[in-house]
Amino acid sequence: MDSLLASVANFVSISHELYIDGGAASSCSDARLPIYDPSTGMQIASTVDANAQDVDRAVTSAFNSFKSGVWKDMRPSERERILLRLADLVERDAEILAQLETLEQGKSLAISRALEAGGAQTWIRYVAGLATKITGKTFDVSIPFPPDARYTSYTQRTPVGVVAGIIPWNFPLLIGVWKVLPALAAGCSVVAKPAETTPLTLLYLARLATEAGVPDGVFNVVTGRGTIAGSQLVNHPLVSKISFTGSTPVGKAIARSCADSLKRFSLELGGKNPAIVLDDADLEQTAQGLMLAAFLNQGQVCAACSRIYVTDKMFAPLRDALTQAIQSMTVGAGMNPQAQINPVVSAAQQKKILSYVQNAEAEAEQVIIGQKAPNSEGYYVPPTLIVNPSPEASCVTEEIFGPVLTLTRTSDADEALQLANASSFGLAASVWTQNLQAAMRLPAQLEAGTVWVNSHVMIDPNMPFGGLKQSGSGADFGSDWLDSFTIQKSICIRH
Ligand code: NAP
Ligand code: MG
Repeated sequence: MDSLLASVANFVSISHELYIDGGAASSCSDARLPIYDPSTGMQIASTVDANAQDVDRAVTSAFNSFKSGVWKDMRPSERERILLRLADLVERDAEILAQLETLEQGKSLAISRALEAGGAQTWIRYVAGLATKITGKTFDVSIPFPPDARYTSYTQRTPVGVVAGIIPWNFPLLIGVWKVLPALAAGCSVVAKPAETTPLTLLYLARLATEAGVPDGVFNVVTGRGTIAGSQLVNHPLVSKISFTGSTPVGKAIARSCADSLKRFSLELGGKNPAIVLDDADLEQTAQGLMLAAFLNQGQVCAACSRIYVTDKMFAPLRDALTQAIQSMTVGAGMNPQAQINPVVSAAQQKKILSYVQNAEAEAEQVIIGQKAPNSEGYYVPPTLIVNPSPEASCVTEEIFGPVLTLTRTSDADEALQLANASSFGLAASVWTQNLQAAMRLPAQLEAGTVWVNSHVMIDPNMPFGGLKQSGSGADFGSDWLDSFTIQKSICIRH
């Protein structure tokens, strides 16, 4: 077992408050929410269960900092410098952040180091650079009145105002960065709400932002429940935009509420992401790639591969390779470097995933279950392969968000494509083949915002990521990332 740093134990043990106006702020009530270690089920900390008044305080702080111009009117190069300093502080405290994430979320420390603390630095540095690349256009216009007048028009992008960033529990730090940092780079002020189960790394990040020089009130955090703090934040009249990553039902509720106020929103929602494997695929590369895509972070990845459609000749070899890989995976705590499958985030999530596996026993040809949990207290779910489920089975149609993968034999690529697209979701997909024609044709026909060929789940800040159908609207990342955090204004000058 890796041992916990003293600074991590210290941070966990403090009485966590809200983060408002550049410092810890106590709630106006005593309501608290427990935080558990998923590997033991033991409570390790508690946070504020924020109410409407707390949210109002945080939003007012963000609004006042926005109006004051202390951040939005700062030179872009200075904003960039401060955000780059934040990335350096995340690098300095990377081990603390990684351990905190493993402690509250359950994932392996190696993944926390690489994708949470490491990914946070990569994405902060990328988006910091966008602060100095906000541009408009000039337009030649032909306005004919008065006859002797000429006009020149140009567009300018200005920050949208106060942004509410609402964050899920699967990658609390990394997705926290995705929800908060583009808003900051654009000059907005932010109130962020982490998932109620995983608030610790975001609270830590907010402190680092203050240390880096982000002015007080520009980055606030309210901890609490989605149904209370989250919905108060979405409905607050001083919030101009919601940047949300989470489930489809909550995304729809946010869109409905934004319809009334005409707030802007971007929604990164759920997925049920298919992989199509053709007879000519490289078996070893495909099996390895799909294992990573399906079981990374116990399958609690929005873009995870959860349905495989494989053509006839490749079916048995792929089933055997995946079965062997699943049965050899060791299950244990995130702090155990030998464990390849770690606990899922919460008891509720564990129960939900296990109920899908139980239903699958009656809905599929075969259910292959990997090694059992090392103890009964942690929130463990063994890795599971469901072979040839019926197309209507809940494990095929619904997002499970756990270490559960389906494998379905198909007669040819067209049947695989039709089954892959027969989903209400459209987040991500992959195609595994050595055939150039198939590699060009199938991605174009797959209904998904991101399609990989001979790979799956690999993301980069310079590659836009967003969903079709019930998987969301808008996209994160890429060089246009700040567009949705800015307002395009036309200015027209008569001369
Ligand atoms: P969730 O239940 O939708 O929660 C996400 C966040 O919204 C949490 O902070 C939650 O607070 C809050 N929330 C809940 N109800 C709310 C409401 N009525 N108003 C405002 N906020 C509310 O999702 P989750 O279970 O945390 O995360 C898993 C889901 O996220 C999966 O569906 C997954 O596919 C999706 N996801 C998508 C992407 C992507 O980029 N497309 C990335 C990662 C995850 P509480 O914690 O208190 O519930
Ligand atoms: Mg939830």
